[in-house]
Amino acid sequence: MPDDLQPGVLDQITWDVAVVGGGNAALCAAITAREAGAHVVLLEASPRSFRGGNSRHTRNLRAMHDRPDGVLVEAYGEDEYWDDLLRVTGGQTDEHMARMTIRASAGAPAWMAARGVAFQPSLSGTLSLGRTNAFFLGGGKALVNAYFATAERLGVQILYDTEVTAVALNAGLVRELTLVSRGFPVTLRARAVVVASGGFQANTSWMRESWGEAADNFIIRGTPFAKGTVLRDLLAQDVAQVGDPTQCHAVAIDARAPKYDGGIVTRLDCVPFSIVVDCHGQRFYDEGEDVWPKRYAIWGRLVAQRPDQIAYAIIDAKADPLFMPSVFPAIRAGTIRELAEKLGLDPATLEATVAGFNAAVVPGSFDGARLDGCQTEGLEPPKTHWARTIDTPPFSGYPLRPGITFTYLGVKVSEQAQVLMNDGRPVANLWASGEIMAGNILGRGYLAGFGMTIGTVFGRIAGEQAARYARN
Ligand SMILES: Cc1cc2nc3c(=O)[nH]c(=O)nc-3n(C[C@H](O)[C@H](O)[C@H](O)COP(=O)(O)OP(=O)(O)OC[C@H]3O[C@@H](n4cnc5c(N)ncnc54)[C@H](O)[C@@H]3O)c2cc1C
Repeated sequence: MPDDLQPGVLDQITWDVAVVGGGNAALCAAITAREAGAHVVLLEASPRSFRGGNSRHTRNLRAMHDRPDGVLVEAYGEDEYWDDLLRVTGGQTDEHMARMTIRASAGAPAWMAARGVAFQPSLSGTLSLGRTNAFFLGGGKALVNAYFATAERLGVQILYDTEVTAVALNAGLVRELTLVSRGFPVTLRARAVVVASGGFQANTSWMRESWGEAADNFIIRGTPFAKGTVLRDLLAQDVAQVGDPTQCHAVAIDARAPKYDGGIVTRLDCVPFSIVVDCHGQRFYDEGEDVWPKRYAIWGRLVAQRPDQIAYAIIDAKADPLFMPSVFPAIRAGTIRELAEKLGLDPATLEATVAGFNAAVVPGSFDGARLDGCQTEGLEPPKTHWARTIDTPPFSGYPLRPGITFTYLGVKVSEQAQVLMNDGRPVANLWASGEIMAGNILGRGYLAGFGMTIGTVFGRIAGEQAARYARN
């Protein structure tokens, strides 16, 4: 197939399967559909150099295994996986679909390896995921590159700089897609379509509908191409919606991170060993509530709810060696007063907050590696673990902002990844995978590595189903 298809030629072709997106979910669908014999076109909004969406920032995938398997150590069975998911979602999930996904995850690493993805043992300090999650050698960038190479070798037609702007639905069928391909308008026809175009977190005006002006201060950890254009278009055509527009995966990241695509290195792991204050110099939540992987994902929302969506983690020299160093250097000072000045906080208030905290710390046996019970007494909010006085210079501060990973509002799908209408009927030739449908299983909360699991499992299902439909 020619790799320089011009927009004029594109109008003339009817593809078996068109896949919208260029991340993990899209690539798994495109490869699977092509392996099933379909002629496949993959439509990626970004230029080649930015291909791979959020997926290129990932590091691992959560996979069930009944015994040690490759880089996955010990065992991680269906029930434990399900319990973990149930806990983080607070029950806002679909047990049947979730268990199906969990079971299918067992086969994912081998399928991935056969298509070029290499794995490595987990590194220390990576949220203690060595037993449950398989880490990609070279990270998500290497994974995406491997999948693109496989897709190209198999003959998937890949179009970069190609944004799908509308999906024409009529009488329960997708009739055509409207695109802008390398600046030219195109109408593209396909017998079957898979939408895998991610969330809408990079669409500030849509985020503002739920969050108000606070959305302007959010930092988007991944791709700027996740604008939700296809999602919005489908929902406007009576496609059933899952999830709540305010629900998203959000973590606290360094406020100095770029607006988009800062990726994993902008993360800050110091919160449990710090006190966190808002722009008025006041604490607002228990920094020591639980071990970091479990509480990691709540801090984005907490900071989003503070004035100006900014907060500051304050530590002293004792805490410096306890967490993975950040990509941005700490803001350091010899006194709390000087630190407050450097951070733009009121010095007297920060001094009072630190002094109040120090006075409330109950002496205990500190252990950064477990819930150590070192706590405060008579302080609101309390710090329930790892509470130690902040008294040893130099003092350090890190500014925090909400870092949005992905939104959960999506299209409702069947177990076969088929997109459903509001009346419950499926769209005969439309499937979805990845973030655009993750809300079917992930109503709230997050389980590290589950985004890639959903995209891989449903990408494969969607690709297979779409190819079967197109070939019959
Ligand atoms: C910093 C960071 C780290 C993460 N780490 C992990 C991890 O280790 N493990 C894990 O499981 N999850 C992780 N996630 C979440 C993970 O990225 C996602 O759950 C998963 O990769 C989503 O895959 P996807 O294919 O659905 O979306 P994406 O990978 O975002 O792909 C969406 C694609 O659609 C394209 N697109 C968007 N709109 C259009 C349009 N209109 N037309 C054409 N193309 C369009 C985009 O350009 C993009 O290529 C991380 C996310 C971030 C930001």
